[in-house]
Amino acid sequence: MGDSAWLPQIDQALCTGCGKCVETCPTGALGQITLPDGQVKAALVRPDLCTYCTLCEDLCPVDAIALPFLILSQEAYEAENLSRKEREDDKAHEVSPPSGDAGAGADAGGLLA
Ligand code: SF4
Ligand code: SF4
Repeated sequence: MGDSAWLPQIDQALCTGCGKCVETCPTGALGQITLPDGQVKAALVRPDLCTYCTLCEDLCPVDAIALPFLILSQEAYEAENLSRKEREDDKAHEVSPPSGDAGAGADAGGLLA
């Protein structure tokens, strides 16, 4: 298993074999393969060349490519956003110090006419 768990996953049931990801992959990590039934599909033929740039996932017109590390990143991002929101909510509930100087007892004193 190892690092391959984080590599782009191509759902061959969704892939139409359009080749856009293969043409766009800047490192040549993707290629096309022909299945026994003659269908042409994209495949990660050189996983060692993948740089996780995300181009293939972004451009696939049928969302056949998923980058697992992005899902993890998204979860981490959402968790961070949630905890930030909680921190902000906590702050909003803190009791604010009274405004003004009520009770200061430092009257300037009246002038005698
Ligand atoms: S862009 Fe998507 S549909 Fe086209 S070959 Fe690549 S994985 Fe398949
Ligand atoms: S993430 Fe980038 S380098 Fe990796 S297969 Fe997709 S387009 Fe190629």
